[in-house]
Amino acid sequence: MLSNIALPMFDDNYLWLLVSPQKSVIAIDVGDYALLINYLQAHQLTLTTVLITHRHHDHTNGLAELRATHPQIPVYGHHSIAHITHTLAGGEILNIKDFGRFLVLDTKGHTQYHLAYYHLQQKLLYCGDSLFSGGCGRIFPDGSAENAYHSLQKISLLPQETQVCGSHEYTLDNLAFAQHIEPNNQALTVYQQHCQQLRQQNLATLPSTLRTEKRINPFLRCHLLGARVADLTQQPVLTPIQTFCTLRRYKGQWNA
Ligand SMILES: [Zn+2]
Repeated sequence: MLSNIALPMFDDNYLWLLVSPQKSVIAIDVGDYALLINYLQAHQLTLTTVLITHRHHDHTNGLAELRATHPQIPVYGHHSIAHITHTLAGGEILNIKDFGRFLVLDTKGHTQYHLAYYHLQQKLLYCGDSLFSGGCGRIFPDGSAENAYHSLQKISLLPQETQVCGSHEYTLDNLAFAQHIEPNNQALTVYQQHCQQLRQQNLATLPSTLRTEKRINPFLRCHLLGARVADLTQQPVLTPIQTFCTLRRYKGQWNA
């Protein structure tokens, strides 16, 4: 059995680690080199593989130092990112010693290139900034809301019990917006109370499950929300992809 660990990093990031019974470790993204290395030393763990989701600094800042000090460790990710040793495009299966198989998913949208890593046996999805609990990553100038919609559609085909390991603790803010969109969603209200209790104890709300996200995350519920989003934004009734793109823009304004 593998252990899945979320290390709090910066203000509201998580650095995810997957730890094998042999005490080897896969790090998903390396935003903070010192945080990672100190944790490994304190727990007598050996880093053997790095998986990178996307180019943003809070996911890659520690890579140069890691490559300089641990040149033997393979770093998987998109070729557009510096310090990648093994390039991926999405669609590959990685078989990693001590850990088994990962399906690599192309989940672009937040940025032009974005990968997610799905551990097939333990149903763990490391989705970077493509999916958060209650929300999804905002669309950067090089990204595309249409692509983000298709990426979330792809993720939603994974098993319901998939554990969603997003890279930010944005859950309570996301759920406040979700409540604004779906004030009568009972599952959302119950989940929001649950997450508030977790945060009061300084505990992570992640991982979530895909089952939960489909009940509470408006960005996975666009097929149900066309009329509501049209009403809120004074648009004609919207298709699911139009609903997603409009909702994503609307959330940007709502947060501002
Ligand atoms: Zn990002």
